[in-house]
Amino acid sequence: MVPETATTDLSVVVPLYNEEKVLDELNERLKNACSKITQNFELIFVNDGSSDGTLPKLKQHAEADQRVRYIAFTRNFGHQNAVMAGIQYSRGKAVVLIDGDLQDPPELIPSLYEKYLEGNKVVYARRIQRKGETFFKKATAGIFYRTLKKIISFDLPLDTGDFRLIAREVIDQLTAMGESNRFIRGQIAWLGFRQAGVDFERQERKAGDTKYTLRKMLRFAMDGITSFSNFPLQIATFMGFLFSLVSFIIILYALYSKFILKEVVTGWTSLIISTMFIGGIQLLCIGIIGEYISRISADVKKRPSFVIDETNLPGTGNVVTKD
Ligand code: UDP
Ligand code: MG
Repeated sequence: MVPETATTDLSVVVPLYNEEKVLDELNERLKNACSKITQNFELIFVNDGSSDGTLPKLKQHAEADQRVRYIAFTRNFGHQNAVMAGIQYSRGKAVVLIDGDLQDPPELIPSLYEKYLEGNKVVYARRIQRKGETFFKKATAGIFYRTLKKIISFDLPLDTGDFRLIAREVIDQLTAMGESNRFIRGQIAWLGFRQAGVDFERQERKAGDTKYTLRKMLRFAMDGITSFSNFPLQIATFMGFLFSLVSFIIILYALYSKFILKEVVTGWTSLIISTMFIGGIQLLCIGIIGEYISRISADVKKRPSFVIDETNLPGTGNVVTKD
């Protein structure tokens, strides 16, 4: 059953961070792709605190076509929060998430929609090839997702990003998940539902450089792990047990050599090595625990994930706008 909140056939959510150069082509190609499905669609562009001309350009497009919506943040809140904002304000029966740099071809949307009509609630786009991305990025992503898949208890589709179509039922469940630090592709996989994939070749960026710095990528990876797995904590506990056992044996040996053999082992090297080693492991474990605590802390604070500065969305009475 399609809930009443869905008044449009199709919404497309696009996060944008300094993507001025691609915006015209993006807008054009998205409209063409959506028109193949329905005329009753909306494009929701989320300006994630861009410092270039993205916002003025968005306003022009919105002026020219009322199906173009924009949400402008007060600063850069990050990709996942930008996607989430678009999702929250979308009104489509089906919602497509797509990157704004044209690495994800809008022309694939009709194929995603076809699979949706076949009854799938989530249709993700699977990258069979990735052009124009560094070996480092492909290798680290490959290892990360394959490891993550092993340590979580549900099925995670590999070689996918956030480019996908999601049915309204899934959107409603997704927006009800209250976590502050989001890993949307994982949350969607966690929700289950009937899912299917469509293969595509990921293109090079049309213009500009990646907006995912190494720091943002690491943060994202950390959120992926800590939101879906306690495995690092289990390793910490395991190491604790292991080292306690080893220490216990060493203690017995030390007592034995002092009281029975009457000879004290004088070994600065072994002492310093074991102290440094155990010190290192302890710091690592504290760090792991700290990661989980910082997640709890963020969730307890219940701060909004983003602050909207301006928007042309209808019916957003609680949103502070400039005019
Ligand atoms: N993006 C964003 N906020 C950010 C970083 C990225 O809204 O802080 C947007 C960006 O404009 C693009 C999408 O998220 O539309 C994916 O980012 P990018 O292409 O830089 O990532 P990559 O494809 O290199 O992983
Ligand atoms: Mg990209």
